[in-house]
Amino acid sequence: MSRRPSLLQAIARGVRGRCPACGDGPLFWRYLKVTPRCEACGHELGRHPADDGPAYLTILIVGHLVVAPLLFFPIIWQASPAIVLPATLIPLAAVTLALLPRVKGGFIGVLYVLGVKDTDAHLHTADPASRC
Ligand SMILES: [Zn+2]
Repeated sequence: MSRRPSLLQAIARGVRGRCPACGDGPLFWRYLKVTPRCEACGHELGRHPADDGPAYLTILIVGHLVVAPLLFFPIIWQASPAIVLPATLIPLAAVTLALLPRVKGGFIGVLYVLGVKDTDAHLHTADPASRC
């Protein structure tokens, strides 16, 4: 067994769509479906609960890096909505969909390094029923 990767190494592996533990096996078997067990090292990738974190982080990134600067261009405010909406929303959706699996991979890399697993749900949920 190889030594545990650093936080940045695990994030980089996840962003590349690779297992954060070994960097060899694929992290996803479909668009956002995490491979239950790494094909290369056998690490249980499905045990790291990313939940809604990657979606929130993706919205935060896209909102700050794309939407906010876009509002400074006068064409957004002066052109017809029939032109502005498709010209901005379609590329925005494409950027978001392209970024989401990379953010989820990085997020799983963080969870891997921190050792957060699905059995720790009682530690990070607001649901009082799961605290028993
Ligand atoms: Zn692996």
